[in-house]
Amino acid sequence: MTAVSSQLSLPTLSVVIPCYNEGDNIALLFGRLLPVLNGLDVSFEVICINDGSKDDTLGRLLDVQKGEPCLRVIDLSRNFGKEKALSAGLFHSRGQAVVPMDADLQHPPEAIADMIAKWREGFEVVFARRDARTGQTLSEKLFARAFYWVFDHLSDVHLPREVGDFRLMDRKVVDTINQMPERSRFMKGIFAWVGYRHAEIVYRQGERAAGTTKFNSWKLLRFAFDGLTSFSNFPLRVWSWVGATVSSLAFLYIVFRLIRTMIWGIDVPGYESTLMSVLFLGGIQLLTLGIIGDYLGRVFDEVKGRPLFIIRQLYEPDGKG
Ligand code: UDP
Ligand code: MG
Repeated sequence: MTAVSSQLSLPTLSVVIPCYNEGDNIALLFGRLLPVLNGLDVSFEVICINDGSKDDTLGRLLDVQKGEPCLRVIDLSRNFGKEKALSAGLFHSRGQAVVPMDADLQHPPEAIADMIAKWREGFEVVFARRDARTGQTLSEKLFARAFYWVFDHLSDVHLPREVGDFRLMDRKVVDTINQMPERSRFMKGIFAWVGYRHAEIVYRQGERAAGTTKFNSWKLLRFAFDGLTSFSNFPLRVWSWVGATVSSLAFLYIVFRLIRTMIWGIDVPGYESTLMSVLFLGGIQLLTLGIIGDYLGRVFDEVKGRPLFIIRQLYEPDGKG
């Protein structure tokens, strides 16, 4: 194939779908996605990343591929997590516009048509904003609110509300993201950090078609903390202020005790107050060490420079790979 003809055969749209134990969703997903994509007047490819699934996700994807020359399957060597699976898909996408979406049909494929329309108007990023958070408990909603509030105040990037990974990005944007070398990939933050001109469309998030969510409360908390520490140094810096305040108060207290002792003589009660200040300061010091440890661990991960993900095999539709 010449360079020109390989250029010509590049698709306009890439849909990137990370899949982890989604065997029961694959047929449903393609049953709904392909008619939508075929109805658009653009050439397209679908890239599914099998993120180390323990069920028959890979087999089912390869079955679909037999009849669908648009499907490319990336099989990772183990479970790397959604963010890295998504990165693998972005690296291998070739479309002029790229849409990441979930495999569980919570992201309606029909919304892609609206995104493309906005993209054609010249916007480089088209967010899809959920109009209602279905299936979320009150505590999850409060947690999300608190997280966004803290993130906005502590980092330089503004995370748009109710916007997840479902969006359209121009090739320029994807190329920029692909150049970012960091190993901790908080995609929401990375998407927001790169900027570009954006528009938004609104969609109604569906229920998960089959299977269960892969994120429990602990994983979400860890994810939120990782996101925060990859986009802000505030948790590191705040301790100098805490230290300065505590030392100033301690200094004032020392002066007060000295004067009191000089005027009224020696008085030795206060076992509790000694114990309390030792425990309090000990606690703060351990917390600080923990935070420094967290950042140090992150630096360690970056310095090792290991690949973001490992591909066991790339299954191209014509049998190459
Ligand atoms: N996913 C993945 N690797 C993981 C966890 C999840 O590729 O380790 C994929 C999953 O298959 C789905 C998407 O990420 O396509 C979103 O996952 P899920 O629906 O469980 O998340 P939720 O919608 O509950 O936030
Ligand atoms: Mg889901």
